[in-house]
Amino acid sequence: MSVIAAISTPNAVGGIGVIRISGEGAIDIADRVFKSASGKRLSELKGYSALFGHVYDGDTLIDECVALVFRSPKSYTGEDVAELSCHGGAYVAKRVLRAVLSNGAEPAQAGEFTKRAFLNGKIDLAEAESVMNIISAHGRQALNAAAAVLDGKLSKRINNIADSLTNISAAIAVWTDDPDEDVPLAHEDNVRSVIASSLSELEKLIGDFDSGRAVTEGLETVICGRPNVGKSTLMNLLAGCDRSIVTEIAGTTRDIVEDTVILGDIVLRLADTAGIHKSDDTVEAIGIEKSLKRISSSQLVLAVFDGSQPLGDDDITLLEKCRGKRALAVINKSDLEMKIDINKIKEYIENTVRVSAASGEGLDEIKSVLENMLGTSDLDSSAGILSGERQYACCVSAVSSLKEAAEGLNAGITLDAVNAGIDYAIEKLLELTGKTARDAVVNEVFSKFCVGK
Ligand code: GDP
Repeated sequence: MSVIAAISTPNAVGGIGVIRISGEGAIDIADRVFKSASGKRLSELKGYSALFGHVYDGDTLIDECVALVFRSPKSYTGEDVAELSCHGGAYVAKRVLRAVLSNGAEPAQAGEFTKRAFLNGKIDLAEAESVMNIISAHGRQALNAAAAVLDGKLSKRINNIADSLTNISAAIAVWTDDPDEDVPLAHEDNVRSVIASSLSELEKLIGDFDSGRAVTEGLETVICGRPNVGKSTLMNLLAGCDRSIVTEIAGTTRDIVEDTVILGDIVLRLADTAGIHKSDDTVEAIGIEKSLKRISSSQLVLAVFDGSQPLGDDDITLLEKCRGKRALAVINKSDLEMKIDINKIKEYIENTVRVSAASGEGLDEIKSVLENMLGTSDLDSSAGILSGERQYACCVSAVSSLKEAAEGLNAGITLDAVNAGIDYAIEKLLELTGKTARDAVVNEVFSKFCVGK
């Protein structure tokens, strides 16, 4: 594989800028641009060693530098790696990279270092995905979850299930070849019990996925309600800053304003939408249309009501829209006399909380009610939980084919046919960890990475 290079630190001013070079010949290329103060060459060094010196482009001095050498297979990518740590100016790192590229390296694609680590067997696909999740972690639980996956906890859970299914699949194959032979592992009771325990472990993973998503990538959340109930004020309270425009003229929030807010461990990707009410104003009407659509596609609805006024027709339209959705009714303006019928709201939305968005009273309660609703307080993020739709979809497919296998077994179909379902489930689990993932899947995973990682 060719030698690749990229700046691994952010494209910004900082203390240090790191240029990473990986592949067979990476250390020779580093030697062409780096001269150590001692005169020693990087190619003479063992792995995990460093030299101080200067980087040059030809005869032109660029900067001081500490060069590190990692020897295959003991490096991030599993290949020979050199890392040049210079001063962290936005220009200086680019200048060093240019020198490295003109000495034989190729620019690394997004995620290419981690992709090489995967291809060289240093990490599996789920672990590779967790690298990006560590980088983008917003809070404690998100970081815990990603670190546990990188540590192999999720892969271990998945591999354990895949291994026990593989054992019975192999036993069934042996028994099918020679039905006179007694193969205890292929006894129906055993097959049934392994399928049941695999299903229960996979369903636990799937169940935790939603809570996990609430603390990792965040839930797509919509704040809605008729004009003037306090949506923008609530949004600003949650965001901790003046993000959307608050005014007393009904209908001023016309488009959708988005923000990511972190409430304890929960990450909400918030949209504050145009108020829901019947309107003749075309621009406003488009905004309202958008917010109603947004409710259907969102993962969480914060339905806001003005507690100081009785429920109106527009409130009822919203409540009807929230039926069957994961929603929290936020009864605002708790500082004013309450006139709203909370029991009526509860007929549509189980969880309600009274707040004063203007003063901030009730914010803690929003947080604790959401934690209960989303199950994040009971979530053991360090157990190795699913992160991302790709992993989730693999588990869902495995579960549905195991369920079919179990139903087939009960209906008396042949063990051979049952085995087809088991084999498909195994394939999906191996796809999750990347053992059998197609190139297109692997490329899709790494395309989401940043350059330099
Ligand atoms: P939106 O149209 O739903 O986005 O409502 P806004 O956030 O723009 O608020 C409408 C009006 O209600 C503004 O005058 C706010 O100051 C006021 N308001 C918002 N929250 C509260 C509250 O908790 N108590 C009281 N008394 N007024 C509030």
